[in-house]
Formats: sequence, C-alpha cells, structure tokens
Amino acid sequence: MSAVAIDILFDEKTIAARIDALAQDVIRLLGREPVLVCVLTGSFVFAADLLRALHRAGASPLMGFIGLSSYGAATHSSGQVKLTLDLLMEVSGRDVLLVDDIFETGRTLHHARELLLARGARDVRLCVLLDKKGKRTSALKPDLAGFECPDRFVVGYGLDLDGQYRALPFVGALRD
Ligand code: 5GP
Ligand code: MG
Repeated sequence: MSAVAIDILFDEKTIAARIDALAQDVIRLLGREPVLVCVLTGSFVFAADLLRALHRAGASPLMGFIGLSSYGAATHSSGQVKLTLDLLMEVSGRDVLLVDDIFETGRTLHHARELLLARGARDVRLCVLLDKKGKRTSALKPDLAGFECPDRFVVGYGLDLDGQYRALPFVGALRD
C-alpha cells in the first residue's frame, strides 16, 4: 500500500468528549431505554462508544444492526443504496435512533428511515458522528450530530477507504 497523507480533523480525546455530550442529548430525545440501530459498516466504532457513553450516563440502551452501502470501493457515493445486511431487531411500535457515521447527501439515512417506518417503527430519529452539511440533497436533517465535517473524504474511527483505515483512533481527511 502506498503512503497516503492524512490530516487529523478530530482526535481521540475530542471525539470521546463529544460522544459523552451526545449521550446526554440521546437521553433527552429518547429517554433512558433508547433503541439504537447502527448502520454498518462505517458507524460500528461510533455506535459502540455511544452505547457505552449511554451506559455511563445511566441509560440502558438496546442496539441492532443494519447494513447499507452507497459507496462500494469508491470515494464518492454511487447514489444507489443497497441493503447488505438486514436488521434482526423488531422495531414495530418503537422509537428508534438510527446511528450512522456520516450524513452526506442523506440518501442512506432517508432509505433506512423509510425502511424502519415501513416496518412499523413509531418514530425514527437520526444521529450521526459527522455532518457534511454542504452535500445535503434531501430535506431530511440529522437530529443529532457530533461534528460538522468539511467536504473532504474522511477515514478512521470506523470509516474506511476500500476497507483500509477503520482502526485509526481519530477521524482524518485524505490529502489530495
Ligand atoms: P449519504 O447517503 O448521506 O450521501 O452518504 C452517507 C454514507 O456515505 C455514509 O454512511 C458513509 O458510509 C459514506 N460516506 C460519506 N462520506 C464519506 C467519507 O468522507 N468517508 C467515508 N469513508 N465514507 C463516507
Ligand atoms: Mg455508511
């Protein structure tokens, strides 16, 4: 693998502090027994940290997983959202918090939200680590967001480029 320069945007400590604050916001929004649905794959690190921050804040969260993909091996969205892994959790009648890594155009979360509502979820709220505000194409907005993200391709903290960089403890942008 050739060396790629990565600019750190959000370091480990900054992310941890922000997630503790987000956990309080989740509790305000959904109460002390929130039902989280983690949108795989990129958000698994964020969702795991948010889950434990919720526990520290006195909540008893549930978590399910759904696999959605819009990028494939590219650094720009294909525009098509593919269901890669179905949710096993029953969401009928529940208030659900979709947890994703990035809100970019909003297509992925729009798709996920419609799917959960079609399965009878009472309400579906959106929580993302990063909000690329400049790229929104849908009227949908995240209810909760960790950080505003510049319009650059980012990796680390679960986010990948063709499978690489997920293990980095920070969020960084590829230098072009
Ligand atoms: P949207 O459907 O909102 O346009 O795109 C959101 C999805 O695209 C995210 O869940 C994420 O998987 C992927 N994505 C968007 N921007 C980036 C980025 O900068 N880096 C990585 N690794 N994935 C991204
Ligand atoms: Mg994603």
